[in-house]
Amino acid sequence: MKLMPVLKMNKGKLAAIRLREEIGMEDPNDFTLEDVVLGRGGVLQYKSMGKTDGRIVYGKRICTIFINSDIRYEGRRRFAIAHELGHLEMHKGSPLHDDNVSLEWFNNVEKKLKRGFQEYEANQFATEYLMPTTLFFSEAKGKFFGPKLIKKLAERFITSLTSVVFKYFDTGLHPIAIFHIFNGKVRYWKKSDDLRVFVNDIVKLPPPVDSVALEYIQSDYKPIYKKEELQQSISKSTYFKLNDYEEDTEFYEYCIVTESFKNILSIVWEK
Ligand SMILES: [Zn+2]
Repeated sequence: MKLMPVLKMNKGKLAAIRLREEIGMEDPNDFTLEDVVLGRGGVLQYKSMGKTDGRIVYGKRICTIFINSDIRYEGRRRFAIAHELGHLEMHKGSPLHDDNVSLEWFNNVEKKLKRGFQEYEANQFATEYLMPTTLFFSEAKGKFFGPKLIKKLAERFITSLTSVVFKYFDTGLHPIAIFHIFNGKVRYWKKSDDLRVFVNDIVKLPPPVDSVALEYIQSDYKPIYKKEELQQSISKSTYFKLNDYEEDTEFYEYCIVTESFKNILSIVWEK
């Protein structure tokens, strides 16, 4: 039997596990998020909030979680609620701020700032709350990595595609690299230790010329590929350095695009 790798524990994840134990929840789909928020001293309200996904207002007795009523995807809405629930569990009394969950994924890079650290913890909370590690493992292990699996997992756990990608990355089930491209430029990247490649110097630059990410930017973030073509072939050299005599090999790239934020999450892995 293959043992589950020991995953790094952090405050956000621990808080989600503690909450799960306190309310006796095995599968997050068995409880509505509304009920859990209410049970933890919060009230959930929906209103139109422009580009903000969620916000929490800490009152003396009751905390109010506002969620943008314009969010179209249930998975993204649930992730936003779970993120705010994480703030409610861990950061009561902190200054008010607006959350945009689709842009906050990489802020562990900036987590030295107090705000950044709390966002990181709230994301870790939401990830563990919506996708309990043991359940996630049993659903994902032994399956081919790719857009179909990401979508299947997002449907199983009713959460955003992006959050599934980051959870998958943390499990280390298959080596992948993730690039965050915002407003036409690469902001951050990270890769599994098992993916033995050196990433080209592309931070703060537009994505590489022959990348799928660049195609999306050139098409103004509109959909380009059909469902079954979301996984595109690229060359290793598109994102990674080649040794002097190394031959180029085939890799795959799959982009999750959020048109309204000019946001692209590009996932790259070896064929
Ligand atoms: Zn937040």
